[in-house]
Amino acid sequence: MSDRWISDRLHKIDASGIRKVFDLAAKMTDPCNLSIGQPHFDTPEPIKQAIRTAIDQGKNAYSQSQGIAPLIGKLQAQIDAEYAQPDRKLFITSGTSGGLVLALQTLVNPGDEVIVFDPWFVMYKHLVTMAGGKVVEISTYPDFRIDVNKVAEAITPRTKVILFNSPANPTGAVASPAEVEALAKLALDKDIALVSDEIYRSFTYDGEFVSPAKWNPETLVIDGFSKSHSMTGHRVGWAHGPDYLIQQMIKLQQFTFVCAPHPMQYGALAGLEVDLSAHYAEYKQKRDFVRGELAPLFEIEGAQGAFYLFPKAPWGTGSEFVAKAIENSLLIIPGKVFSPADTHFRISYAAEQKTLERGCELLKKLAKG
Ligand code: PMP
Repeated sequence: MSDRWISDRLHKIDASGIRKVFDLAAKMTDPCNLSIGQPHFDTPEPIKQAIRTAIDQGKNAYSQSQGIAPLIGKLQAQIDAEYAQPDRKLFITSGTSGGLVLALQTLVNPGDEVIVFDPWFVMYKHLVTMAGGKVVEISTYPDFRIDVNKVAEAITPRTKVILFNSPANPTGAVASPAEVEALAKLALDKDIALVSDEIYRSFTYDGEFVSPAKWNPETLVIDGFSKSHSMTGHRVGWAHGPDYLIQQMIKLQQFTFVCAPHPMQYGALAGLEVDLSAHYAEYKQKRDFVRGELAPLFEIEGAQGAFYLFPKAPWGTGSEFVAKAIENSLLIIPGKVFSPADTHFRISYAAEQKTLERGCELLKKLAKG
Protein backbone atom coordinates (compact mmCIF):
# COMPACT_ATOMS: atom_id res chain seq x y z
CA MET A 1 0.00 0.00 0.00
CA SER A 2 1.26 3.41 -0.83
CA ASP A 3 0.58 6.53 1.18
CA ARG A 4 0.55 8.79 -1.88
CA TRP A 5 -2.91 10.13 -1.08
CA ILE A 6 -2.03 11.21 2.43
CA SER A 7 -1.87 14.98 2.92
CA ASP A 8 1.33 16.79 3.89
CA ARG A 9 -0.53 17.89 7.00
CA LEU A 10 -0.89 14.31 8.17
CA HIS A 11 2.71 13.47 7.34
CA LYS A 12 3.71 16.10 9.90
CA ILE A 13 1.81 14.19 12.60
CA ASP A 14 3.29 11.21 14.41
CA ALA A 15 1.04 8.53 15.96
CA SER A 16 0.53 9.24 19.66
CA GLY A 17 3.37 7.85 21.74
CA ILE A 18 0.80 7.02 24.38
CA ARG A 19 -1.12 4.82 21.93
CA LYS A 20 2.13 2.89 21.35
CA VAL A 21 2.33 2.09 25.07
CA PHE A 22 -1.36 1.01 25.03
CA ASP A 23 -0.67 -1.32 22.09
CA LEU A 24 2.20 -2.83 24.03
CA ALA A 25 -0.02 -3.24 27.10
CA ALA A 26 -2.56 -5.20 25.06
CA LYS A 27 0.14 -7.83 24.36
CA MET A 28 1.38 -8.19 27.94
CA THR A 29 0.00 -10.55 30.58
CA ASP A 30 -0.77 -8.85 33.88
CA PRO A 31 1.12 -5.57 33.36
CA CYS A 32 1.20 -2.99 36.14
CA ASN A 33 -0.48 -0.21 34.29
CA LEU A 34 0.20 3.37 35.41
CA SER A 35 -0.21 4.83 31.96
CA ILE A 36 -3.95 5.45 31.80
CA GLY A 37 -5.15 9.03 31.50
CA GLN A 38 -8.68 8.55 32.78
CA PRO A 39 -10.38 8.01 36.15
CA HIS A 40 -10.31 4.40 37.35
CA PHE A 41 -13.90 4.53 38.70
CA ASP A 42 -16.83 3.76 36.39
CA THR A 43 -19.31 6.40 35.24
CA PRO A 44 -21.63 7.09 38.22
CA GLU A 45 -24.92 5.18 38.09
CA PRO A 46 -27.27 8.25 37.87
CA ILE A 47 -25.41 9.33 34.72
CA LYS A 48 -25.69 5.87 33.16
CA GLN A 49 -29.37 5.73 34.08
CA ALA A 50 -30.05 9.13 32.50
CA ILE A 51 -28.36 7.97 29.28
CA ARG A 52 -30.44 4.76 29.21
CA THR A 53 -33.62 6.76 29.78
CA ALA A 54 -32.70 9.28 27.07
CA ILE A 55 -32.13 6.44 24.59
CA ASP A 56 -35.39 4.73 25.59
CA GLN A 57 -37.25 8.02 25.20
CA GLY A 58 -35.97 8.35 21.65
CA LYS A 59 -33.42 11.12 22.17
CA ASN A 60 -31.37 9.44 19.47
CA ALA A 61 -31.45 11.92 16.64
CA TYR A 62 -29.24 15.00 16.26
CA SER A 63 -29.48 17.60 18.97
CA GLN A 64 -29.18 21.28 18.11
CA SER A 65 -25.57 22.11 17.11
CA GLN A 66 -25.01 24.09 20.31
CA GLY A 67 -26.36 21.30 22.54
CA ILE A 68 -29.53 20.59 24.53
CA ALA A 69 -31.20 23.58 26.20
CA PRO A 70 -31.40 22.21 29.78
CA LEU A 71 -27.65 21.46 29.86
CA ILE A 72 -26.75 24.83 28.39
CA GLY A 73 -29.10 26.52 30.89
CA LYS A 74 -27.54 24.85 33.93
CA LEU A 75 -23.97 25.51 32.80
CA GLN A 76 -24.80 29.10 31.88
CA ALA A 77 -26.13 29.66 35.42
CA GLN A 78 -22.86 28.21 36.79
CA ILE A 79 -20.62 30.47 34.74
CA ASP A 80 -22.82 33.51 35.36
CA ALA A 81 -22.45 32.88 39.10
CA GLU A 82 -18.70 32.31 38.81
CA TYR A 83 -17.69 35.15 36.45
CA ALA A 84 -20.58 37.66 36.24
CA GLN A 85 -19.52 38.50 32.67
CA PRO A 86 -22.72 39.19 30.68
CA ASP A 87 -21.05 38.44 27.33
CA ARG A 88 -19.75 35.02 28.45
CA LYS A 89 -21.71 32.31 26.60
CA LEU A 90 -21.22 28.60 26.04
CA PHE A 91 -22.03 25.62 23.88
CA ILE A 92 -21.73 21.85 24.21
CA THR A 93 -18.82 20.20 22.41
CA SER A 94 -17.93 16.68 21.45
CA GLY A 95 -15.57 16.17 24.38
CA THR A 96 -12.90 18.61 25.41
CA SER A 97 -10.95 17.53 22.34
CA GLY A 98 -13.84 18.70 20.16
CA GLY A 99 -13.70 22.10 21.85
CA LEU A 100 -9.95 22.35 21.33
CA VAL A 101 -10.20 21.44 17.62
CA LEU A 102 -12.89 24.08 17.05
CA ALA A 103 -11.01 26.68 19.10
CA LEU A 104 -7.81 26.38 17.09
CA GLN A 105 -9.59 26.17 13.73
CA THR A 106 -11.55 29.28 14.66
CA LEU A 107 -8.61 31.33 15.92
CA VAL A 108 -5.51 30.33 13.97
CA ASN A 109 -4.56 31.55 10.48
CA PRO A 110 -1.77 29.81 8.55
CA GLY A 111 1.55 31.08 9.89
CA ASP A 112 0.11 32.32 13.18
CA GLU A 113 2.11 31.48 16.28
CA VAL A 114 0.58 29.58 19.16
CA ILE A 115 2.39 29.59 22.50
CA VAL A 116 2.30 26.28 24.38
CA PHE A 117 4.01 25.37 27.64
CA ASP A 118 6.53 22.54 27.51
CA PRO A 119 5.75 19.81 28.56
CA TRP A 120 2.29 19.97 26.94
CA PHE A 121 -0.74 17.75 26.44
CA VAL A 122 0.02 15.63 23.33
CA MET A 123 -2.87 16.94 21.28
CA TYR A 124 -1.90 20.63 21.36
CA LYS A 125 0.98 20.47 18.95
CA HIS A 126 -0.93 18.50 16.35
CA LEU A 127 -4.06 20.63 16.55
CA VAL A 128 -1.93 23.72 15.96
CA THR A 129 -0.24 22.01 12.99
CA MET A 130 -3.64 21.03 11.56
CA ALA A 131 -4.75 24.66 11.76
CA GLY A 132 -1.59 25.68 9.85
CA GLY A 133 -0.15 27.44 12.89
CA LYS A 134 3.35 27.39 14.29
CA VAL A 135 3.98 26.07 17.79
CA VAL A 136 6.16 28.27 20.00
CA GLU A 137 7.30 26.28 23.03
CA ILE A 138 8.02 27.81 26.40
CA SER A 139 9.92 25.47 28.66
CA THR A 140 8.62 25.19 32.21
CA TYR A 141 11.39 22.84 33.38
CA PRO A 142 12.56 22.16 36.03
CA ASP A 143 9.71 23.25 38.34
CA PHE A 144 6.83 23.54 35.79
CA ARG A 145 5.96 27.05 36.92
CA ILE A 146 4.65 29.63 34.42
CA ASP A 147 7.17 32.45 34.04
CA VAL A 148 5.21 35.32 32.54
CA ASN A 149 8.41 37.16 31.60
CA LYS A 150 9.34 34.24 29.35
CA VAL A 151 5.89 34.43 27.76
CA ALA A 152 6.27 38.18 27.18
CA GLU A 153 9.66 37.59 25.53
CA ALA A 154 8.21 34.92 23.22
CA ILE A 155 5.49 37.21 21.86
CA THR A 156 5.96 38.39 18.27
CA PRO A 157 3.64 40.23 15.86
CA ARG A 158 2.48 36.76 14.70
CA THR A 159 1.46 35.51 18.14
CA LYS A 160 -2.25 34.73 18.03
CA VAL A 161 -3.01 32.30 20.82
CA ILE A 162 -1.65 31.22 24.19
CA LEU A 163 -2.77 27.68 25.00
CA PHE A 164 -2.79 27.16 28.74
CA ASN A 165 -3.61 24.09 30.84
CA SER A 166 -3.89 23.99 34.63
CA PRO A 167 -4.07 21.52 36.38
CA ALA A 168 -1.73 20.22 33.72
CA ASN A 169 -1.22 17.00 31.87
CA PRO A 170 1.46 15.53 32.18
CA THR A 171 3.02 17.36 35.16
CA GLY A 172 0.03 17.74 37.48
CA ALA A 173 1.21 21.33 38.01
CA VAL A 174 -1.39 23.84 39.11
CA ALA A 175 -0.49 27.43 38.29
CA SER A 176 -0.67 29.77 41.30
CA PRO A 177 -3.29 32.55 41.35
CA ALA A 178 -0.47 35.09 40.83
CA GLU A 179 0.82 33.21 37.75
CA VAL A 180 -2.69 32.86 36.31
CA GLU A 181 -3.48 36.54 36.92
CA ALA A 182 -0.23 37.69 35.30
CA LEU A 183 -0.79 35.46 32.26
CA ALA A 184 -4.42 36.57 31.91
CA LYS A 185 -3.47 40.25 32.05
CA LEU A 186 -0.55 39.82 29.65
CA ALA A 187 -2.84 38.23 27.04
CA LEU A 188 -5.36 41.03 27.49
CA ASP A 189 -2.71 43.71 27.27
CA LYS A 190 -1.09 42.22 24.13
CA ASP A 191 -4.45 41.41 22.49
CA ILE A 192 -3.68 37.69 22.24
CA ALA A 193 -6.36 35.02 22.52
CA LEU A 194 -6.00 33.00 25.70
CA VAL A 195 -7.37 29.45 25.54
CA SER A 196 -7.62 27.74 28.93
CA ASP A 197 -8.04 23.96 29.02
CA GLU A 198 -9.70 23.34 32.41
CA ILE A 199 -10.57 19.67 32.04
CA TYR A 200 -8.82 18.81 35.35
CA ARG A 201 -10.18 21.72 37.42
CA SER A 202 -12.06 19.39 39.80
CA PHE A 203 -8.76 17.66 40.59
CA THR A 204 -7.03 20.55 42.39
CA TYR A 205 -5.62 19.36 45.73
CA ASP A 206 -3.63 22.15 47.35
CA GLY A 207 -5.77 25.26 47.28
CA GLU A 208 -8.51 26.71 45.09
CA PHE A 209 -8.71 26.38 41.34
CA VAL A 210 -8.55 29.73 39.55
CA SER A 211 -9.30 30.39 35.90
CA PRO A 212 -7.63 33.16 33.91
CA ALA A 213 -11.18 34.10 32.84
CA LYS A 214 -11.47 35.73 36.28
CA TRP A 215 -9.08 38.48 35.13
CA ASN A 216 -9.50 38.30 31.36
CA PRO A 217 -13.12 38.22 30.15
CA GLU A 218 -11.96 37.34 26.65
CA THR A 219 -10.52 34.01 27.79
CA LEU A 220 -11.89 31.01 25.94
CA VAL A 221 -12.35 28.18 28.42
CA ILE A 222 -12.47 24.58 27.24
CA ASP A 223 -13.92 22.16 29.77
CA GLY A 224 -15.62 18.77 29.80
CA PHE A 225 -17.14 15.86 31.67
CA SER A 226 -14.59 13.22 30.63
CA LYS A 227 -12.38 13.33 33.71
CA SER A 228 -14.55 15.03 36.34
CA HIS A 229 -17.44 12.59 35.76
CA SER A 230 -15.54 9.63 34.32
CA MET A 231 -17.29 9.99 30.97
CA THR A 232 -14.35 9.71 28.56
CA GLY A 233 -16.25 7.43 26.19
CA HIS A 234 -19.34 9.61 26.10
CA ARG A 235 -17.75 12.61 24.41
CA VAL A 236 -19.34 15.58 26.13
CA GLY A 237 -17.57 18.85 26.88
CA TRP A 238 -18.31 22.54 26.76
CA ALA A 239 -16.61 25.77 25.83
CA HIS A 240 -17.36 29.21 27.25
CA GLY A 241 -16.08 32.59 26.20
CA PRO A 242 -17.08 35.83 24.48
CA ASP A 243 -20.31 35.38 22.55
CA TYR A 244 -18.89 36.31 19.10
CA LEU A 245 -16.26 33.58 19.43
CA ILE A 246 -18.73 30.97 20.70
CA GLN A 247 -21.04 31.71 17.73
CA GLN A 248 -18.19 31.12 15.25
CA MET A 249 -17.29 27.84 16.95
CA ILE A 250 -20.92 26.67 16.81
CA LYS A 251 -20.94 27.49 13.08
CA LEU A 252 -17.95 25.20 12.59
CA GLN A 253 -19.39 22.51 14.85
CA GLN A 254 -22.43 22.39 12.56
CA PHE A 255 -20.17 21.37 9.66
CA THR A 256 -17.79 19.08 11.54
CA PHE A 257 -18.92 17.30 14.70
CA VAL A 258 -22.58 18.33 14.06
CA CYS A 259 -23.37 17.99 17.78
CA ALA A 260 -22.18 16.24 20.92
CA PRO A 261 -23.80 12.77 21.19
CA HIS A 262 -27.42 13.55 22.03
CA PRO A 263 -28.27 10.94 24.73
CA MET A 264 -24.90 11.50 26.39
CA GLN A 265 -25.77 15.15 26.90
CA TYR A 266 -28.60 13.96 29.17
CA GLY A 267 -26.02 11.92 31.05
CA ALA A 268 -23.94 15.07 31.53
CA LEU A 269 -27.04 16.96 32.70
CA ALA A 270 -27.64 14.29 35.36
CA GLY A 271 -23.93 14.41 36.19
CA LEU A 272 -24.26 18.03 37.30
CA GLU A 273 -26.39 16.77 40.21
CA VAL A 274 -23.96 14.03 41.27
CA ASP A 275 -21.57 14.76 44.13
CA LEU A 276 -18.18 13.39 43.14
CA SER A 277 -16.16 15.09 45.86
CA ALA A 278 -15.32 11.75 47.52
CA HIS A 279 -13.63 10.64 44.30
CA TYR A 280 -11.56 13.82 44.12
CA ALA A 281 -10.59 13.41 47.78
CA GLU A 282 -9.56 9.81 47.04
CA TYR A 283 -7.29 11.04 44.24
CA LYS A 284 -5.64 13.48 46.61
CA GLN A 285 -4.89 10.53 48.91
CA LYS A 286 -3.50 8.56 45.98
CA ARG A 287 -1.32 11.52 45.04
CA ASP A 288 -0.05 11.74 48.64
CA PHE A 289 0.66 8.01 48.75
CA VAL A 290 2.55 7.72 45.45
CA ARG A 291 4.47 10.96 45.91
CA GLY A 292 5.37 9.94 49.46
CA GLU A 293 6.66 6.56 48.28
CA LEU A 294 8.70 7.96 45.41
CA ALA A 295 9.95 11.29 46.77
CA PRO A 296 13.06 9.85 48.49
CA LEU A 297 14.33 8.43 45.18
CA PHE A 298 12.86 10.68 42.50
CA GLU A 299 12.80 14.40 41.81
CA ILE A 300 9.09 15.32 41.59
CA GLU A 301 7.82 18.83 40.81
CA GLY A 302 4.26 19.87 39.98
CA ALA A 303 1.74 17.28 41.25
CA GLN A 304 -0.70 19.76 42.82
CA GLY A 305 -3.54 18.48 40.64
CA ALA A 306 -4.87 16.23 37.82
CA PHE A 307 -3.86 12.60 38.44
CA TYR A 308 -0.34 12.54 37.11
CA LEU A 309 3.17 12.68 38.47
CA PHE A 310 6.02 13.64 36.17
CA PRO A 311 9.21 12.52 37.92
CA LYS A 312 12.69 12.93 36.54
CA ALA A 313 14.33 9.68 35.50
CA PRO A 314 16.86 8.79 38.23
CA TRP A 315 19.33 7.49 35.63
CA GLY A 316 19.61 7.49 31.83
CA THR A 317 17.16 9.28 29.60
CA GLY A 318 13.43 9.20 30.22
CA SER A 319 13.04 6.68 27.37
CA GLU A 320 15.81 4.42 28.69
CA PHE A 321 14.23 4.36 32.11
CA VAL A 322 10.75 3.69 30.66
CA ALA A 323 12.12 0.89 28.44
CA LYS A 324 13.52 -0.81 31.56
CA ALA A 325 10.18 -0.32 33.36
CA ILE A 326 8.28 -1.87 30.46
CA GLU A 327 10.70 -4.84 30.45
CA ASN A 328 9.57 -5.27 34.05
CA SER A 329 5.87 -5.13 33.09
CA LEU A 330 5.40 -1.61 34.41
CA LEU A 331 3.65 0.68 31.96
CA ILE A 332 4.52 4.36 32.21
CA ILE A 333 4.88 7.02 29.52
CA PRO A 334 8.21 8.57 28.46
CA GLY A 335 8.34 12.35 28.89
CA LYS A 336 9.48 12.87 25.31
CA VAL A 337 5.92 12.14 24.19
CA PHE A 338 5.00 15.49 25.78
CA SER A 339 8.20 17.42 25.26
CA PRO A 340 11.43 17.87 23.30
CA ALA A 341 13.22 16.89 26.53
CA ASP A 342 13.79 13.17 27.15
CA THR A 343 14.41 13.44 30.87
CA HIS A 344 11.17 12.59 32.69
CA PHE A 345 8.31 10.08 32.65
CA ARG A 346 4.59 10.25 33.40
CA ILE A 347 2.79 8.13 35.98
CA SER A 348 -0.98 8.15 36.26
CA TYR A 349 -2.22 7.39 39.77
CA ALA A 350 -5.80 6.89 38.58
CA ALA A 351 -5.55 3.24 39.57
CA GLU A 352 -6.47 0.81 42.37
CA GLN A 353 -4.40 1.04 45.56
CA LYS A 354 -2.83 -2.40 45.00
CA THR A 355 -1.71 -1.37 41.51
CA LEU A 356 -0.16 1.79 42.96
CA GLU A 357 1.65 -0.24 45.64
CA ARG A 358 3.01 -2.67 43.08
CA GLY A 359 4.00 0.20 40.76
CA CYS A 360 5.82 2.07 43.53
CA GLU A 361 7.76 -1.06 44.55
CA LEU A 362 8.84 -1.61 40.94
CA LEU A 363 9.83 2.03 40.48
CA LYS A 364 11.87 2.05 43.69
CA LYS A 365 13.68 -1.11 42.59
CA LEU A 366 14.37 0.36 39.15
CA ALA A 367 15.63 3.63 40.63
CA LYS A 368 18.22 1.73 42.65
CA GLY A 369 19.32 0.06 39.40
N1 PMP B 1 -7.10 18.23 27.58
C1 PMP B 1 -6.27 17.57 28.40
C2 PMP B 1 -5.23 18.35 29.14
C3 PMP B 1 -6.38 16.18 28.53
O1 PMP B 1 -5.52 15.52 29.33
C4 PMP B 1 -7.38 15.49 27.81
C5 PMP B 1 -7.57 13.99 27.90
N2 PMP B 1 -6.48 13.22 28.15
C6 PMP B 1 -8.21 16.22 26.96
C7 PMP B 1 -8.05 17.59 26.88
C8 PMP B 1 -9.25 15.57 26.10
O2 PMP B 1 -10.35 15.20 26.83
P1 PMP B 1 -11.69 14.64 26.17
O3 PMP B 1 -11.69 13.17 26.44
O4 PMP B 1 -12.79 15.33 26.89
O5 PMP B 1 -11.66 14.95 24.73
